[in-house]
Amino acid sequence: MAQYPSLHVIIDGERVSGGGRRTFDVVNPVTGEAIGALPLAEAADLDRALEVAAKGFRIWRKSTPQERAAVLSGAARLMVERQEELARVATMEQGKPLAEARLEVMMNVGLFNFYAGECSRLYGRELVRPTGQRSTIRWEPVGPVAAFAPWNFPLGNPGRKLGAPIAAGCSVILKAAEETPGSALGILQCLLDAGLPKEVAQAVFGVPDEVSRHLLASPVIRKLSFTGSTVVGKHLAKLAADNMLLTTMELGGHGPVLVFDDIDVDRVLDTAVPGKTRNCGQVCVSPTRFIVQENVFEKFRDGFIERMSKVVVGDGLEDGTQMGPMANPRRPEAMERLIGNAVQKGAKLGTGGERIGNRGFFYKPTVLSEIPLEADIMNEEPFGPVALINPFKGEDEMIAEANRLPYGLAAYAWTDNVQRQRRLAAEIEAGMVGINSHMIGGADAPFGGVKWSGHGSEDGPEGVRACMVLKSVHEG
Ligand code: NAD
Repeated sequence: MAQYPSLHVIIDGERVSGGGRRTFDVVNPVTGEAIGALPLAEAADLDRALEVAAKGFRIWRKSTPQERAAVLSGAARLMVERQEELARVATMEQGKPLAEARLEVMMNVGLFNFYAGECSRLYGRELVRPTGQRSTIRWEPVGPVAAFAPWNFPLGNPGRKLGAPIAAGCSVILKAAEETPGSALGILQCLLDAGLPKEVAQAVFGVPDEVSRHLLASPVIRKLSFTGSTVVGKHLAKLAADNMLLTTMELGGHGPVLVFDDIDVDRVLDTAVPGKTRNCGQVCVSPTRFIVQENVFEKFRDGFIERMSKVVVGDGLEDGTQMGPMANPRRPEAMERLIGNAVQKGAKLGTGGERIGNRGFFYKPTVLSEIPLEADIMNEEPFGPVALINPFKGEDEMIAEANRLPYGLAAYAWTDNVQRQRRLAAEIEAGMVGINSHMIGGADAPFGGVKWSGHGSEDGPEGVRACMVLKSVHEG
């Protein structure tokens, strides 16, 4: 059994713990038992982190693109070396199968290497002016960033939150989720060990609302980057507005999946079922609302039920586990509430719909069908292993259902009709659309949503630019 690491806050490169600070119990979702005590930052710690971040920005904004690239690619190499250790810690504190945690490490490796290249491509432009005059438009780092990362991708979220500001020449204070601190600290340590000056990136944990109010009100911070629920995102956007901060908000979704009758249903199920159970459905781009053309509805629903009932659920550290427990006790509780409400309103329960055992936070892979649109689960992000499958007549009705909710993060569509593919790409309101594919991201592609799913992008060249501002310089 791998060891769970000791936990701390990292301020100015120093591992801070003890000293009468409050602690938070980190729990293994397989057992529900505490595996570590996380020291929480107090107001004085946050003030110190802010002072250090201001200094870190003064240092890092003057770094060369080569220095920034060397840190990012060096950290990527260390993540490859430490892949197994990082993945095990993530599985212990979050529950996902080890294979998924290993992939998360590699997502960061790809992103950091891509960003390392981007450091040399942050071009501005020069305007056409008469001889003797010059006007240049340049990109500059925005300043110290406050970055809040959730628990569902304990390695990937901190990687995104740290990588972009560092590539742009900013400093960053990361508050990752208190539930998954070991993974976040592991990623930050790779950067520090690769030569990142200790003032440039720090990690604090605390009572989320205390930390965010403290950091976002400070004149030091110039940008907020948040991933999490729409409710919390709206609250933080208001705090950010009071300090006129630049924002990147990666919020909730309710992923529609349009399945047309010209497609081979098994081909869709081959990706939709593993897509649904990935990370126990706790993914903002999870396929959630299956909008199925009526001719293939029964075949699709029955195939989904059959496959979901065979998914192997267990401890993510064990070989053969396809789906782990949910990450925290709030999730099975939310499943019980949402699924109970749907069934009570007339939805059909095809499989699942209950917890597994009474230890840890396990929940059965679940299929609901013929769900009334007014059921809570058709309107709130379920964030769990539940597929919602409803029949629809044709294209217009299916697009209307896809666009019905205020969310617009990821959407998927399956059809072999090329003209229809183009119409769907244009008409679906989402930041990312997968057509006959479940892959909607990559280190080089912007990741983000529209409407209540937020604004701004992570990843791709846009992820670095999101931590920068423009300046025009006119020389006479
Ligand atoms: P939550 O909405 O309270 O928290 C979501 C995340 O935001 C957590 O990481 C939390 O630590 C952080 N957070 C909460 N309040 C904050 C504050 N005032 N300042 C800074 N950070 C704050 O609840 P939860 O139970 O953790 O998750 C519930 C819902 O959040 C899920 O059902 C899902 O819809 C959404 N969620 C989305 C993502 C995503 O990737 N977009 C990730 C995790 C959770």
